[in-house]
Amino acid sequence: MPLESRLPSSASRLLRLSLCLIGAVLALAADRAGTTPALVERHLEAMGTLLGLSVAGPDRAAALESSEKAVREIARVETLITTWRPGGPLDRVNTAPPGGAVLLDAEVSELLNTVFGWSERTEGAFDPTVLPLVRAWDLRGQGCVPDVATLSRALAATGRDRFALDAATGRTRRLSSDAGIDEGAWGKGYALDRAVSELKRCGVREALLDLGGQVSAIGPARVAIADPRERRRTAVFLDILDSSVSTSGNSERGIVVAGRRIGHLLDPRTGRPAPDFGSATVVAPSGVTADILSTAFFVLGPEKGLDLSERLRRQGFPNEALFLVASDGGWKTIASPGLRSRLECPGLQAREQSPLVIPSPSLPFCHPERSEGSAPVALSRFVRSGQAPQRICPGHDLSNRPEQILRRFAPQNDKKGSAAPLRLSKR
Ligand code: ADP
Ligand code: MG
Repeated sequence: MPLESRLPSSASRLLRLSLCLIGAVLALAADRAGTTPALVERHLEAMGTLLGLSVAGPDRAAALESSEKAVREIARVETLITTWRPGGPLDRVNTAPPGGAVLLDAEVSELLNTVFGWSERTEGAFDPTVLPLVRAWDLRGQGCVPDVATLSRALAATGRDRFALDAATGRTRRLSSDAGIDEGAWGKGYALDRAVSELKRCGVREALLDLGGQVSAIGPARVAIADPRERRRTAVFLDILDSSVSTSGNSERGIVVAGRRIGHLLDPRTGRPAPDFGSATVVAPSGVTADILSTAFFVLGPEKGLDLSERLRRQGFPNEALFLVASDGGWKTIASPGLRSRLECPGLQAREQSPLVIPSPSLPFCHPERSEGSAPVALSRFVRSGQAPQRICPGHDLSNRPEQILRRFAPQNDKKGSAAPLRLSKR
């Protein structure tokens, strides 16, 4: 999906949000003397999509301040990696003359090195150099079906070997004039990782972040995976701990050109949209890994995706995979071993009875819920609206994507008799 906001005012909007929050913090400080554990919830827009944060703290002011640091970190990452606006480091690489070196700072250079490494590990199913194909299918615009010559030119410009990266010096060169890096399948995951780091640095021990449907949790969380054919219905609940969950799917999304739906997940090996079977969900210790692998597993399909998931685990890359395969108006689940006993399938159930309604994406939304005494702040419902979220950038309709729906914090002791939440140790 398109990652970056094309709304040029997003930075100033974030600034306005911050000022609002500072006001809220001051008002609260005046209003409340003691410290009571608090949970703040905010919904705003970032990286061209909706960002939901639920952050616990020793008091409301602290929780707000931590959440604000996380929001600012996501805004920083957006500026750092966007290729939707000119002038950023990746855009400079994408527009450099073939062979000409661009010097990247250590953060971007290391990040690119990590991301490019996944291209090889997923046998090219995930490929950050997919931008020529994204352009050929006009996935950032209205969509089009490319002719054979255009498609083969785009395919020729796609691939790890179209770039030369020197991680030690940061010198990066693109080797073909059509080559380009696309951050769509890994940028949100990285932003979540950075935001989680910020929150941890602030001492946050319980938080839940939802960036366009990808979720990262500090502490326990219950995540609902949507039915790929009807995203307002929950197909599966999943309890996680200190992990990230990403879902990739085309089924209800995509651009329709002359009556034909073009999926936004491309198979870089064929240059064409990957066959649509439903959705692929990945739980991984880090957001960037979950983001990348859900794309790769969708492109590979359930059988090969499950094989790769297993191989990666053996190679020391912890991950668990869940495929929802649509069939005859229903769906079946295919899960990696670590998930099998942890899935709760409520059937095609209606979503929560009275979901919180997402306010205008440009307004902060703080909804504290306090717990008593020293008990962890928990049981907050943090739910995407049952209403269709606003369409916030062209070609990018959030109302139609199979995604996780955050339900609520699910403390371990809240679920007697069920499996412990899934925690995957970091590499
Ligand atoms: P979403 O953004 O909907 O969560 P993904 O994380 O799977 O979905 O990312 C999809 C985006 O990544 C596409 O919009 C496109 O920009 C880019 N992309 C499409 N196919 C691939 C691929 N095979 N490898 C890497 N990036 C891809
Ligand atoms: Mg992805």
